[in-house]
Amino acid sequence: MKELYRSLGISDSVYSYCKDILDSLEDRFKEVDEVREYNQLKVIKAMQDNRVSESCFQGTTGYGYNDIGRETLEKVYASIFKTEDALVRPQITCGTHALNVALSANLRPGDELLSPVGKPYDTLEEVIGIRESKCSLKEFGITYKQAELNEDGSFNYDAIKAAINEKTKLATIQRSKGYLTRPTFSVKQIGELISFIKGINPNIICMVDNCYGEFVDVIEPSEVGADMVVGSLIKNPGGGLAPIGGYIAGRKDLIENCAYRLTSPGLGKEVGATLNVNTAFYQGLFMAPTVTAAALKGAIFAANIYEKLGYKVVPDSKEKRHDIIQAVTLNSEDAVIAFCKGIQAAAPVDSYLSPEPWAMPGYDSDVIMAAGAFVSGSSIELSADGPIKPPYNVYFQGGLTFDHAKFGIIKSLQALVDAKIVSL
Ligand SMILES: *Cc1c(COP(=O)(O)O)cnc(C)c1O
Repeated sequence: MKELYRSLGISDSVYSYCKDILDSLEDRFKEVDEVREYNQLKVIKAMQDNRVSESCFQGTTGYGYNDIGRETLEKVYASIFKTEDALVRPQITCGTHALNVALSANLRPGDELLSPVGKPYDTLEEVIGIRESKCSLKEFGITYKQAELNEDGSFNYDAIKAAINEKTKLATIQRSKGYLTRPTFSVKQIGELISFIKGINPNIICMVDNCYGEFVDVIEPSEVGADMVVGSLIKNPGGGLAPIGGYIAGRKDLIENCAYRLTSPGLGKEVGATLNVNTAFYQGLFMAPTVTAAALKGAIFAANIYEKLGYKVVPDSKEKRHDIIQAVTLNSEDAVIAFCKGIQAAAPVDSYLSPEPWAMPGYDSDVIMAAGAFVSGSSIELSADGPIKPPYNVYFQGGLTFDHAKFGIIKSLQALVDAKIVSL
């Protein structure tokens, strides 16, 4: 084994350092495996209960009427998330699109949207109109309020209560920290927040941005009161096999609105050809608990490696996980670049390319991104990105197999050692 790692550019000292840490993680990994097993059985049961059959793998073209694969898959998602209905479509282009559909389908002019958990994910700023944008909710007369979190990342219930008024129609709750360093919320915490909001006004629709959170726990936010959960199929639930898509699962009336918004008033769920993606959607969902567990183990492994070297890691090496993202504060531009080059060099695809920081649209600093993915932009595959600005955080996530996640992290450490930023 050591020799093979050596042939992949890993020195004996880096290998041994990582192996010792890995050996200490057995108990943590066992917990992850228990969640994985539970969720694997949950997915199988949902497929059985809804009588998934070979005919579900046939796609449709054109209008896509009576697509039994699509209709059954939506029932499977509803079973998994314990919701009345679901919309799972290749026509949903990404997570942001799924969130935009859920919001714009269920808000009307004069309504107010509330984020009780501080600033939402970057791309949502333009959806909402926090940053001026064409076709934002703001342009349609939907106002927005935001309650900041407490200093320690907990909910500020006073601020939330103060922000709710007779116009408040929908609360958007982002489960994952995304690319912030606040803590990610557990499903249980989200349940408490929803109870609080519903206690003030039971008619407020509670929507959870579930991106990166699916299958990390044995329950989902829809089991603790969320009226809608929303996510991307090129993250956890696509299992690395879905080549596109998003989902919205929730209350029947809300999902119906989403379908009319996604396709057209009068058409709703009835149209939307699946072409050839049904098999990948099913098989990816089947793989998703295993893939999510691999990504989680990778994140735990990395947190332990980098924390031991003295870097700040969020979540820390011991904390319980609620999403698959790992943040490491690397303190310098050179370290962020070396880390990302290491991740890239471990990829099965495009490993010979060298990522460089550049001024990506929508960001206020240069950003470096590492990804060598089978599905372009997929962040359930091993990937990393770092904005080139203090405190020089790198965020990384994914790994379709633990062996790959492990190799990527070892390679990132090797790159830091080679650049003489870290000495073991
Ligand atoms: C990824 C992500 C999104 C947006 O998803 P895209 O597929 O990139 O559009 C929204 N919210 C959170 C928390 C995410 O992690």
